[in-house]
Amino acid sequence: MEFPDSVKDAAFRRSGGQCECMRTSHNHAGRCSTTVTRNTAEYNHIPVNPKTTSNTLANCEVLCVTCCREVLACAP
Ligand SMILES: [Zn+2]
Ligand SMILES: [Zn+2]
Repeated sequence: MEFPDSVKDAAFRRSGGQCECMRTSHNHAGRCSTTVTRNTAEYNHIPVNPKTTSNTLANCEVLCVTCCREVLACAP
């Protein structure tokens, strides 16, 4: 399910143009902070609850391409 553009815009503003990934399993210490643009950023659903796939801002994280690829590769 895709996020509407309004949510993507808000998420991108929140991210400050940097990847929001905090996963400790990735090859970055703390927050990734790779610079992304509105067009290169990936918008990922945060799996807080697998049953909720709502397209709200709270459920959206901004990822760089590298992190997104790793997250998707790790997804069940
Ligand atoms: Zn990243
Ligand atoms: Zn990452």
